[in-house]
Amino acid sequence: MSLTDAELERYARHIVLPQVGGLGQRRLKEARIAVVGAGGIGSAVIPALAGAGVGKLTIVDSDTVDVANLHRQPLYRERDAGYSKAELALQFVHRLNSLVEARPLQERIDRDNAATLLDGHDLVIDGSDNFATRLAVSDACVTLGIPLLSAAAMQFQGQVGLFRSQPCYRCFVGDAFDTDDCDNCAELGVLGALTATVGSLAALLAVNRIVGVGEEQAGKLHLFDGEKLEWRTIRIPPDPSCRACGSA
Ligand SMILES: [Zn+2]
Repeated sequence: MSLTDAELERYARHIVLPQVGGLGQRRLKEARIAVVGAGGIGSAVIPALAGAGVGKLTIVDSDTVDVANLHRQPLYRERDAGYSKAELALQFVHRLNSLVEARPLQERIDRDNAATLLDGHDLVIDGSDNFATRLAVSDACVTLGIPLLSAAAMQFQGQVGLFRSQPCYRCFVGDAFDTDDCDNCAELGVLGALTATVGSLAALLAVNRIVGVGEEQAGKLHLFDGEKLEWRTIRIPPDPSCRACGSA
């Protein structure tokens, strides 16, 4: 898939980077990425990926905008309250980059529909706000063989991790949270500026992975402390008895 003159001009600051070049930009154009959750994380990830020229972007969110979202979800404005996040995010993408083929799915993703909704993507980025959704998305990604980039922020803590086959996200959190569909942000709070920081790292990791920059990130979890302003990285051990990716 070659780049048009308009694309060469538009992505010139990418293409001039030796690590990206025309090949990297073509890889972005060919990429099919699903973003689960157009909330705080999605508000950083979706503009970054649309701006970067990701060819196909699926945005999954069943929610409508609430005024209590606006402190961390700059995709939306006051007048958007009550309207579908997936549809509004689609409009944002079209305004930012008409070359991106975006598809909104106004659906709540769960155990029953996750594999159907996520099939056909090269990468899934999960920025949802509850464990039941994250585990359903993770299990579907393991089944489909799609790498999963999971990003979350709560209070002053953030985390970003890439999971590919083994270990999976379930190896990390276990089985205790499958029915936990509470909105963590609503209960415990989250600093608005933190979600942008965490979402931006997720977007950077996604672009690097698609382009082929840097070392393999799968199995590592990047943790951010928003009070100390420190990142640290841990390695997630595979769980041999994991019911999603384990061999037992
Ligand atoms: Zn696992």
